[in-house]
Amino acid sequence: MVDMQREEWLSLLLKELPERLIVIDHQGLIVDVFSDADQTGIPYPLDKSQAFYEQAPNAIAAQLKDGFEFALSHGNRCSSRYSLSPSQLLQLSIEALQEWGEVEERWFEATFKPLTLSNGQRYILWQEKEITQAHQQEVELKRQAETDELTGVLNRRAFTQGLEQAFNHPVQPVLSCLMIDIDHFKEINDQVGHLSGDEVITQVAQICQGLIRSSDYIGRLGGEEFGVVLSHTNAIQAYDIAERIRQSIETTPCRVDNHIIYPTVSIGIAELNRQVSSTRELLVQADKAMYYSKQTGRNQVTIFYDNLPDIQTNTELKATILKAS
Ligand code: GH3
Ligand code: MG
Ligand code: MG
Repeated sequence: MVDMQREEWLSLLLKELPERLIVIDHQGLIVDVFSDADQTGIPYPLDKSQAFYEQAPNAIAAQLKDGFEFALSHGNRCSSRYSLSPSQLLQLSIEALQEWGEVEERWFEATFKPLTLSNGQRYILWQEKEITQAHQQEVELKRQAETDELTGVLNRRAFTQGLEQAFNHPVQPVLSCLMIDIDHFKEINDQVGHLSGDEVITQVAQICQGLIRSSDYIGRLGGEEFGVVLSHTNAIQAYDIAERIRQSIETTPCRVDNHIIYPTVSIGIAELNRQVSSTRELLVQADKAMYYSKQTGRNQVTIFYDNLPDIQTNTELKATILKAS
């Protein structure tokens, strides 16, 4: 192939690449842009008279500059992801806004790779590609992996991972953990069936979720058992919230098929303090307090403390299930 032809082929092939390729010099000035600018990549204009990161929207300028400087100083590639929404792109034309499409937020991946020419001159190859679809799929997969299918709250693994993060935090946060178990649930299942029992579990989860703040979280730890983490909350403050949850569940009728069920719950509370050394220990303490609530009559809240007695009593209380008229 003669050189002219080869050059034409290379230029055609570069335009077909799914990524936008930009060569930058050591000052951050754009030397050349390969591939079709309109086809893919950065949704803002670039000119060669100014460092590329100074032309980027404010929200991502520092991130791009850091990636570029890292690749330049370490001689290693550096990738980072960022998102943009039309409100961050004040320079977008009406046409560009129309082309933006339905998605509110678009995701991009920028990779900076060091390049050295045979004469020793060093450049950075900036590769830019849109990853919105892949990002949305990842978010959805993560959501599914963290969610309890029946109730829509966190599953056990995601819940305990959240607690682990609190333990790994350099400054121990103030938080309390509630353990909530529905009373006499076997009986509820026996009387109304497993599927209706599922609806009771879901209603209890929804009531708990509705009574906690956005910084708190709830997870389903087992069949009819939930954990709640209350951030910035000591055990005394947690008691008030737990009481509100208990009362709300007790007084909210659950209508399933031709039954009206008034479920109740027993709740245990454990506060994270210096004596608690692991997620497991905190959960065991909340569990012990919950069992104390069970053993001393159910439908009540107990705060864990050292030497909490381990009483075994049989109560006469039963689940309240009425026949709907
Ligand atoms: P207690 O007051 O002591 O908690 O009595 P309980 O009957 O609720 O006893 P326990 O907590 O040990 O029993 C839980 C029951 O929940 C046993 C199981 O049949 C039922 N269960 C577990 N998972 C599910 C589920 O996903 N759906 C339904 N409907 N029932 C479940
Ligand atoms: Mg139970
Ligand atoms: Mg249980």
